Amino acid sequence: MTIIKLPNNKFWKNKFFFFGILFGAVIVTCITLPIILVQNVHTTTSHTSEWSYLRQDLWDGLCQTGQKQSPINLIETVVDDIYTTLPSIHLENINYFETVEVGNTGHTVTLNLTKNNSTQPRLYGGGLSGNFTLNHAHFHWPSEHSINGKSFDLEAHLVFYSDLFQSLSDALEVPNQVTVLAILFEQSNNESSKTHTNFQTIDKAVLKVSFYAGSTAETSKGLTLEDFFPNDLESFFAYSGSLTTPSCNEGVNWIILREPVEIYENDLDYLTNVFTEEQELLEKNNRDLQEVNGRTIVVH
Ligand SMILES: [Zn+2]
Repeated sequence: MTIIKLPNNKFWKNKFFFFGILFGAVIVTCITLPIILVQNVHTTTSHTSEWSYLRQDLWDGLCQTGQKQSPINLIETVVDDIYTTLPSIHLENINYFETVEVGNTGHTVTLNLTKNNSTQPRLYGGGLSGNFTLNHAHFHWPSEHSINGKSFDLEAHLVFYSDLFQSLSDALEVPNQVTVLAILFEQSNNESSKTHTNFQTIDKAVLKVSFYAGSTAETSKGLTLEDFFPNDLESFFAYSGSLTTPSCNEGVNWIILREPVEIYENDLDYLTNVFTEEQELLEKNNRDLQEVNGRTIVVH
């Protein structure tokens, strides 16, 4: 048996005390860290999305059984004979918004203009009954609607609900009380396109939320909503369809502006570089085309 004599002085007492604490801390860390990590993994997996663009065949309810679903292919030759004289659409309060809240939902990038602004964009005319207020805007890439079989690089949806209701969810319960105004975008190498400033501002906020589905960030600058719109607001398609995400509610008024708008290719790359809750790149978020089923599609 060997007896190790320890120097009996204050220095060594302090040193053993210090190493004791250090050793204890390492043991505690070794035991608890795996538990914390396992808990984090569990937390992440327990919040996985209920639906995915990769398995649209699993979307249930009206998404499978509905007869007036969106999006659809808009064919001009078919609608020529049902051309009607709808009134023009009118948009109000689409100028400058000081800051906008940008979100990554894991399924899309959203723009919330309501948070910091009391004046809301409004929509009327175009055969709609009454006035509609903007709830939010979001993007799909590539486009959901196509025109004569042609798809576009990006589609913005501006979701409006009738002034008769307090909220979008209330309006969704009643047919024709929600209107989605769609703008189609084509990528270009034109850095001076009129949407460039807006998308640069949005993309800086997207960078902050890109990896964090469910998070939001405010833009550091304002944006001019008007710059997203094509010059020609007189040419549009209108039809009755549905939300293009579960639960695919029907009775949604659709207005799709005919003239596509330019988006600078780098702006499109940054805008669409977002990740899902499962930490996978959201490569595309457009629903498959749906059957028209004899619906009237109006061309203005
Ligand atoms: Zn949409």
